[in-house]
Amino acid sequence: MSDPLAQLVDELARLPGIGPKTATRLAYHLLKVSAEDAGRLAEAIVAVKEKLFPCSRCNSITDVDPCVYCTDPLREDNRLCVVEEPFNIRPVERTGEYRGRYHVLGGALSPQRGIGPEQLAVAGLLERLDGVEEVILATNPDVEGEATALYLARLLKPRGITVTRLAFGMPVGGDIDYTDEVTLARSLAGRQEL
Ligand code: ZN
Repeated sequence: MSDPLAQLVDELARLPGIGPKTATRLAYHLLKVSAEDAGRLAEAIVAVKEKLFPCSRCNSITDVDPCVYCTDPLREDNRLCVVEEPFNIRPVERTGEYRGRYHVLGGALSPQRGIGPEQLAVAGLLERLDGVEEVILATNPDVEGEATALYLARLLKPRGITVTRLAFGMPVGGDIDYTDEVTLARSLAGRQEL
């Protein structure tokens, strides 16, 4: 495709949640903005690809390895919070209620989409259990997140680890990212043993 506008629409339409109509509107918007504004957007996209990568320990997105969550000496080593995606860490951090470490799975179990434990960072999680007393399963409260939490609980409990799940006052089928911090803080404080 040589038409730059059509190519931009195509690329935008590949982003999650962006249909062809929105992609077209965004492309025409970008056509109108100043060269500086467009350049800043392009540079920001290139910069995240060049400077950020997954932490070798917890899989969160970082510019240093291991990441700050893994190396911060003020964090508790005996607690691990398991989330689906790197962007799920920030809402938990915002609650100010959690000072342990994190582990990012890279998704949730989904037989329909062919995602099994091998496609997720489950092996890496099992390698990190030295000194861990509690694993908090903060996967999303939807079918896949629940299945993932149950699967992990079955793996972790025989190892003598306390496994807890957020006590979701969050809407079922909801997403950790869309839960306000008060609700999430309450979910964290009221977490229940599985
Ligand atoms: Zn890390």
